[in-house]
Amino acid sequence: MSNTKDFILEQLKTQIDNYQGELKEQTVGTVIEVGDGIARISGLSEVMMSEMIEFDTKDNSGKKVFGVALNLEEDSVGVIILGNYESIKEGDTAIATKKILEVPVGEEMIGRVVNSLGDAIDGKGDIKTSTHYPIEKIAPGVIARESVFEPVQTGIKAIDSMVPIGRGQRELIIGDRQLGKTAIAIDAIINQKGQNMKCVYVAIGQKESKVAGIVAKLEEHGAMEYTTIVLTGASDPAALSYIAPYSGCAIAEYFLDKGEDVLIVYDDLSKHAVSYREISLLLRRPPGREAYPGDVFYLHSRLLERSCKLNKDNGGGSITALPIIETQAGDVSAYIPTNVISITDGQIYLEPDLFYQGNRPAVNAGLSVSRVGSAAQIKAMKKVAGKIRLEAAQYRELAAFAQFGSDLDKETQKKLERGARVVELFKQDQFAPLLVGKQVISFYSLINGYMDDVPVEKIVEFEKGLHEKIENNTSIIKDIGIKGEIDENIEKELIKEIKDYKSTLEYLIENK
Ligand code: ATP
Ligand code: MG
Repeated sequence: MSNTKDFILEQLKTQIDNYQGELKEQTVGTVIEVGDGIARISGLSEVMMSEMIEFDTKDNSGKKVFGVALNLEEDSVGVIILGNYESIKEGDTAIATKKILEVPVGEEMIGRVVNSLGDAIDGKGDIKTSTHYPIEKIAPGVIARESVFEPVQTGIKAIDSMVPIGRGQRELIIGDRQLGKTAIAIDAIINQKGQNMKCVYVAIGQKESKVAGIVAKLEEHGAMEYTTIVLTGASDPAALSYIAPYSGCAIAEYFLDKGEDVLIVYDDLSKHAVSYREISLLLRRPPGREAYPGDVFYLHSRLLERSCKLNKDNGGGSITALPIIETQAGDVSAYIPTNVISITDGQIYLEPDLFYQGNRPAVNAGLSVSRVGSAAQIKAMKKVAGKIRLEAAQYRELAAFAQFGSDLDKETQKKLERGARVVELFKQDQFAPLLVGKQVISFYSLINGYMDDVPVEKIVEFEKGLHEKIENNTSIIKDIGIKGEIDENIEKELIKEIKDYKSTLEYLIENK
């Protein structure tokens, strides 16, 4: 008897002597409830908000499943599960990783389509990066920032002239469904070619076929050379849609930290808010207005505050954000639209009437504003844009008045004629952004009366011909872009070119 006891003791002793285990502290909990992409976990006492939680379960493809802690309650933690949640069961273990959720970032992300965890979904192989950024980050403070002074040229006449955007600005694109919101953002991305700008397009809860079309268009215009696309499809779990914009922003912040300029599009934040509402209701947070949780303002403000223009000491980079909001029947006073309007530095409001009358892009000049962008306009554009804006505003007022059919004096008639040409000039096809030099030339000819004798229906043709002629004969277009202003020499040459061009047009000669 004592022999066996001694033997066991001896065995234990050698085992203890030979034990070389490393001490590792882990916070481990147990899943007590799971369903609809949400898990409730007990026993995770020291977990942080937004901390990554690793489940001890593998999904169908053999990958570990992760979640993010969102609700820190007294006796349990509410976790949104990223990816496939069907394999997780009650009683499974969950480990707190002590890390905020991270996504891969770096040059390797350019030209790729990724999901909101940063994994490639374009079939071009895994992305190998050495750097990861947390998806949540406190935005830079005032001391690190600088006011906006460089332009982002969208290439869209109505926007660059009347609602100009600067690097580091947040400009909202708002309007009902199918009015060309995405089209404006995509044109802006296409126009960044050669402008030293990286672009990130975040598609939130969109039809995958639609996004495939967008990727094809960007590729066709050579814009994927500087663009990353973060995509969550309409059928993806709400959790992935919820984190998509933050992931996109983290990818942009990598370039910001290198002192570069980035343009990021969030398409759209209405769907983002809806996915957050879904998560919040599942987490049993109390619903507020329109059933959104109370912190839905913070949801978007902490995202958009991360767009900024940093000063020289901090690298001088910038993130310009173009968030998109879809309204219902033009109702800009609904909860989410008013929130985002108040967070951004202005909005581009798209109007159904304009769109259906064929005035596309359907930018409503009266309701669209840019609070900081005009500081960033180039001098030449500033000079002509002020007048164009005025002409457009006067036309809107007079056109409403002229409908009564009363006799109009000469002055009013002239204004109406001019205004009709302004409206015509603002029409612009999709995927045809214009160089700033060309825009300035068009506006210059218009406000100086060189288009007054051109019939309204010929304006588009006239403009195109004028650009072609000037491009072939001179370097004015480039010069305006480089110098930023129309100096005396350029103006002289420009006037001569316009006059020469007009003398060759048959329909103008006939009228004389
Ligand atoms: P959704 O609400 O579905 O996201 P949206 O507001 O983003 O729609 P788009 O998808 O960009 O709108 O455009 C809607 C339609 O209008 C598309 O068929 C597009 O080709 C057309 N369109 C947009 N802009 C223009 C334009 N400048 N000229 C001609 N057609 C345009
Ligand atoms: Mg769209």
